Amino acid sequence: MRSPSLDGDHHVHSTFSDDAVSTPAENLAAAQAVGLRTIRMVDHVRVSTTYVPEFLAAVRALPAVDGLTVLTGVEAKILDASGAVDAPPEVLASLGAPHGPDRVLLADHQVPGPDGPWSPRSTRERIEAGLDPADVVEMLVTATIRAMHAVGRAQLAHPFSILPKIGLTEAAVPDELLDALAVAAVETGTPVEVNEKWHCPRTHVTGRLRAAGVLLVASTDAHQAADVGSYDWVRG
Ligand SMILES: [Zn+2]
Ligand SMILES: [Zn+2]
Repeated sequence: MRSPSLDGDHHVHSTFSDDAVSTPAENLAAAQAVGLRTIRMVDHVRVSTTYVPEFLAAVRALPAVDGLTVLTGVEAKILDASGAVDAPPEVLASLGAPHGPDRVLLADHQVPGPDGPWSPRSTRERIEAGLDPADVVEMLVTATIRAMHAVGRAQLAHPFSILPKIGLTEAAVPDELLDALAVAAVETGTPVEVNEKWHCPRTHVTGRLRAAGVLLVASTDAHQAADVGSYDWVRG
C-alpha cells in the first residue's frame, strides 16, 4: 500500500496556460533543482485551442536532464454527463502518438450536467431548489468514468475538487461509486492525482482507490516554477 511518490510532479502548467507564469524551461529547471524524477507538463485546453503542437514542440526541444522523465498532457474539463471532453478532437485522436500529448487530464472544473457544464453557482441553485446532492455526485462520477473510457489515455486531475464549491464534501461520495471509479481507473490504466493545490482527494478516497489497485500520483498543479515538486498537504 504505497502513497504517491513525491519525487514526481504529474501536473505542472506553463505560460501556454493563460493563468501560469513560468516557461517549460523554467519548470524543467525547477524540477531538476528539487530532484524530481518525473514531471508531467500540462496546459489547459478547450475544443477551440490551437496551441497544442507548439506547446509539445517546446517541451520536446528541452534539453534532456539525467534521471528526469518529462511527460506531457493537456488538461480539459468533462463537459457533460455523457463524458464528452472539452479538448480539440485532433488532440484526442493523437494521444500517445509520437506527435501527440501523452495523456488528457480530466478536470471537474464544472459539474458535467445532462445538458452541458453546470457552474458551481448554478449547481448550488439547483440543489437549493430541490435537486438531490446524491444525484449530482452520481452524475459527476458516472461522467468521469465515461470520459476515462472515451479518452483511453487519461489522468484524473484533482478529483472531487468541485465538491466544496457546491457545498458538499467527499463524504457525499458513496463507496459503491468510489469502487466503480476505481474499477474504471484500473481497466483504463488511468492514474489518479493527489493534488496539492486543491487538497484532494482526501484519505478515505485515496485509501479506497489504492486498495483497489489504482495508481496514485502526486501533483502540485503548479502555475509558477517555484511550486514545482513542492508538497506540504500531500506529504501530510
Ligand atoms: Zn484544473
Ligand atoms: Zn491544472
